[in-house]
Amino acid sequence: MLYYSTNKKAKDASLKDAVIKGLASDKGLFMPSAIKQLPKAFYHNISEMSFQEISFIIAEAFFGEDVDAESLKTLVYDTLSFDTPVVKVTDNIYSLELFHGPTAAFKDVGARFMARLLGYFIGNDRHEQVNVLVATSGDTGSAVANGFLGVPGIHVYVLYPKGKVSQIQEMQFTTLGRNITALEIDGTFDDCQALVKSAFMDADLNAAMNLTSANSINVARFLPQSFYYFYAYAQMLKAGKADNLVFSVPSGNFGNITAGLFAKRMGLPVKRFIAANNRNDVFLQYLKTGDYEPRPSVATIANAMDVGAPSNFARVLDLYGSHDAICADISGVSYTDEQIRGTVASVYKATGYLLDPHGACGYQALQDGLQGDETGVFLETAHPAKFLDTVESITGDTVSIPDTLKVFMDGKKQSIELSADFDTFKTYLLER
Ligand SMILES: *Cc1c(COP(=O)(O)O)cnc(C)c1O
Repeated sequence: MLYYSTNKKAKDASLKDAVIKGLASDKGLFMPSAIKQLPKAFYHNISEMSFQEISFIIAEAFFGEDVDAESLKTLVYDTLSFDTPVVKVTDNIYSLELFHGPTAAFKDVGARFMARLLGYFIGNDRHEQVNVLVATSGDTGSAVANGFLGVPGIHVYVLYPKGKVSQIQEMQFTTLGRNITALEIDGTFDDCQALVKSAFMDADLNAAMNLTSANSINVARFLPQSFYYFYAYAQMLKAGKADNLVFSVPSGNFGNITAGLFAKRMGLPVKRFIAANNRNDVFLQYLKTGDYEPRPSVATIANAMDVGAPSNFARVLDLYGSHDAICADISGVSYTDEQIRGTVASVYKATGYLLDPHGACGYQALQDGLQGDETGVFLETAHPAKFLDTVESITGDTVSIPDTLKVFMDGKKQSIELSADFDTFKTYLLER
């Protein structure tokens, strides 16, 4: 299948090129040239199928023309060696728990799939070592590093701001070694992102090495996120709760929710979506006014959503074509830190269910916006233990850390300290 650019000025790319390049040459985002409808029979059987079985069918719809069926099946089954259960929280609100993977956040699904797909493409062509550069404020770096660990032909550089990620997050990408290098940058997350962006534009670096990104602009990372919307639907169908389904998605760069919009376009019976934001609500303002006006992000306790210019907005616009069409399917909400704290506290007190600050936005959006005949599923995007201090200070109770995260705490931190100066970073990369 060919992939076109949302800016419509670059040549269409093959899947392999779209995955290796990340961004189109006109700086647009790649979109699949067709979104296949799934046959009715699929929906009749879906509630009897496993997460892997469902995902393989979705994967074939997107990637079946470019990856042979046997390899694609292995790729999907290796990626999804963990479950994403739907758990009831209150009468008509359910939590889709996406935190049962190795780094306890939803990004594990896309990162693991992308690592395996990239490995598949360059596996036949081993002389092409590919270097993944990723800037992180925490969750992306850990999911990408663990997803790519040990994949032949690929080296990952994780750039993170010194002293500004939580200890659990830092240990998840600094203890791995092998093909993962952690670069501890003396600066902010924005400095890390600027270094990565400058590297992609730098002629010397691009001549010397294959560089790619692994954030949700990459089709191989963002499309697989549609898998769990289908699986959530299957679980709701089994529970007799699949009518008038509303998905509420805690959103930052909008990769996760866009994958849900693709699922709906493939025929998944979803009534509507809610984009749940913290105070960084550029998308909500767009829904209200029709004007998309990115602005610098502000820091919140749901920090994985501190995004002032959501990179997948271009995909949402391309998919729907107009403000009216977008508003018909998606609504938005925005919550302050105080409101997020209030939600975590009250849900914990009333039900015993512990939300993380991101999932809390998703939950509250349903609590505030669900109509009588609707059932809501919010995406619980990370395990609350990843935000230990915040969550414990709200509930006053200790949070038990899942075993998958404990493993990292026993490792030895290895990182290379660099200044935020581009020439230093460039020289470091060229000398590797
Ligand atoms: C990355 C992240 C988000 C935001 O997802 P997008 O795809 O960028 O919208 C939400 N919650 C958590 C915990 C995350 O790590």
